[in-house]
Amino acid sequence: MKAIIIPVTPFEQNCSLIWCDKTMKGAVIDPGGDLDHIMEAAKNQGVEIEKILITHGHLDHAGGTKELKEKLNIPIEGPHKADKFWIDQLPEQCARYGFPESFSFTPERWLEDGDTVTVGEETLNVVHCPGHTPGHVVFVSMTEKVAIVGDVLFQGSIGRTDFPQGNHEDLLSSIRDKLWPLGDDIAFIPGHGNMSTFGQERQSNPFVADMNFG
Ligand SMILES: [Zn+2]
Ligand SMILES: [Zn+2]
Repeated sequence: MKAIIIPVTPFEQNCSLIWCDKTMKGAVIDPGGDLDHIMEAAKNQGVEIEKILITHGHLDHAGGTKELKEKLNIPIEGPHKADKFWIDQLPEQCARYGFPESFSFTPERWLEDGDTVTVGEETLNVVHCPGHTPGHVVFVSMTEKVAIVGDVLFQGSIGRTDFPQGNHEDLLSSIRDKLWPLGDDIAFIPGHGNMSTFGQERQSNPFVADMNFG
């Protein structure tokens, strides 16, 4: 599997293009906007986009989903259904942040913890990680040791939990009880900022490190 990061929207959200290098079929994860950049990147890599995967319903992650779906006539998978209220509010989120017009959508498939999604011949595991939003999901390739974690975890930080239905305790538990057991050697692409590994964050992230920095 291969992956590249395409920063999109004024929030510099890390949209990911991932693909199976055997079939050259790929998925766009979190097309928040700037669809021309995303499609150009796919074209440059020779990737045929076969689906859209969504980590959560925030504007910078999901804002371009409906338009990309209609342009390419491809299905949407994710997030978990608990984020439906965020997706339904995409037009209002847009107006509030001064983004170009955005549309709500209904995924072909809502995802549950323990589901798998395919990209070409690759398989990713779905981990439901509520806290930042109630329906946030993370995609993990255990063969490639890479995770796409959206706004759950960042290098040196964690997602905000001051939104409606955000929950700080749920977020900590999602990270410690669901992500850490996948292994210290998992590299992750966060929704914003630089890549890191679970092991590095267990050591040095002040919010979720094993040692309490008090
Ligand atoms: Zn978010
Ligand atoms: Zn974000």
